[in-house]
Amino acid sequence: MRFTFWEDFLALVFPKTCAGCNQSLFDFEYMLCKACIASLPMTNYHLQPQNNDLVVKVMGLTKPNLVMSFLRFTKGGMSQRLLHQLKYKNKPEIGIELGQLYGYLLKDVGLDKNWDMITAVPLHRNKFRRRGYNQSEQFGLGISKSLGIPYVPLIVRHIYTETQTSKSRIERLDNVASVFGIDGSFEVQGQRILLVDDVMTTGATLTSCANVLLNANAKVVDMAVIAAGKF
Ligand SMILES: [Zn+2]
Repeated sequence: MRFTFWEDFLALVFPKTCAGCNQSLFDFEYMLCKACIASLPMTNYHLQPQNNDLVVKVMGLTKPNLVMSFLRFTKGGMSQRLLHQLKYKNKPEIGIELGQLYGYLLKDVGLDKNWDMITAVPLHRNKFRRRGYNQSEQFGLGISKSLGIPYVPLIVRHIYTETQTSKSRIERLDNVASVFGIDGSFEVQGQRILLVDDVMTTGATLTSCANVLLNANAKVVDMAVIAAGKF
């Protein structure tokens, strides 16, 4: 049921504003205005998905195939602003919109033919409870929507990882390796999977999840994140 009158009333009192620039949105706009969409700092990694900085980053940690990031992360820039609202301001729809936009780009270059399913790095239960949603999953759901490929929550998180910022890279890798597993109710064998996350920093979490999928005999695991860059 749609409460059109109520929605119109709310829109009058609290006009929907763009998550990028705070200007009022038109009815046909979702979370971002056209100007902000046009100025998103895109990486174009999807044009060289087997040959870019991110592929180099995960090499040696997993068997990299296609590794991509929609946006370039810059401190104080648009991608940081959007990620902050997606994670901390109860705006899961930003993940959906970014995922959908990225899905269209991936489809344009024919990459949608590469996957049977999309899955995301899972959020710890406590964080999920606090936030109410997994921001990476929202991104995956958006991609799923524009590509018409099912989103499947294949990966589960076993134990809590304490904050990892003070640990060395090797310690971090050890720490995350035992954290993830496969949800036994899904079949992974032979599947071509697009694994998504919100950001890529060291690549430890993503590669750990990719290895869990590969160890369960996934045929191929590709990776896509909302943003990557210098953190
Ligand atoms: Zn805007």
